[in-house]
Amino acid sequence: MKKVVCVWCVLLLFAGLTVGWMKVPEMSGEKRGGIIIQTTAETSQQEGKKVALTFDDGPSCYTKKLLDGLKKRKVHATFFLQGQCIAGREAVVKQMQKDGHLIGNHTFHHVQLSLLSEQKAIYEITAAGNAIYEITGTYPLYIRPPFGEWKEGLELRVSMIPVLWSVDSCDWSLQNTPQIVKRVLRDTREGDIILMHDCYATSVEAALQLVDELERRGFYFVTADEMIDP
Ligand SMILES: [Zn+2]
Repeated sequence: MKKVVCVWCVLLLFAGLTVGWMKVPEMSGEKRGGIIIQTTAETSQQEGKKVALTFDDGPSCYTKKLLDGLKKRKVHATFFLQGQCIAGREAVVKQMQKDGHLIGNHTFHHVQLSLLSEQKAIYEITAAGNAIYEITGTYPLYIRPPFGEWKEGLELRVSMIPVLWSVDSCDWSLQNTPQIVKRVLRDTREGDIILMHDCYATSVEAALQLVDELERRGFYFVTADEMIDP
């Protein structure tokens, strides 16, 4: 008797699986349709609009939160560091390097290079470069001159590439996350370099919101060197 019950169980199970299997193509057909749409969207995003997020004036007490948020989102950015802000934040700079961000020079004391003698300008750049080298083992090649003011011909003396920006978030003056996000979304186009500052809580929050929203709009993120020299 037990054997008969078992045979029926097997038959019922087989029948159930068969009916289930016959229904699967219908369902998976819909699913496949969904996947195709998703794949198309992913492809256009990879081919799509590249943009670079850059952060000046750090590292600060808010930088770690930004790094953690970028890591979670698998996004690389560029950080132009002030030499005078590095002492005591070595671990943050290490994490920056480990996470694959580009580290650039923003002078040691945040000086306007165009107003300095060539000797003093070179000292400011070299001192910041040395502070970065002591932690990362690499001298930065890219420099964001404070106030966007480069000293003419200086790149020949310090072998550095100045990087300016095409979208100004005005985050330092706005200090209001929704307003920063709105402004950057309004102004950003393919190929832009966005200027932000990782020394305000509002900027860090805005930057992470911007990453999410710009990705939704088909942008992907590169570091400044990839934007300048693809
Ligand atoms: Zn600055």
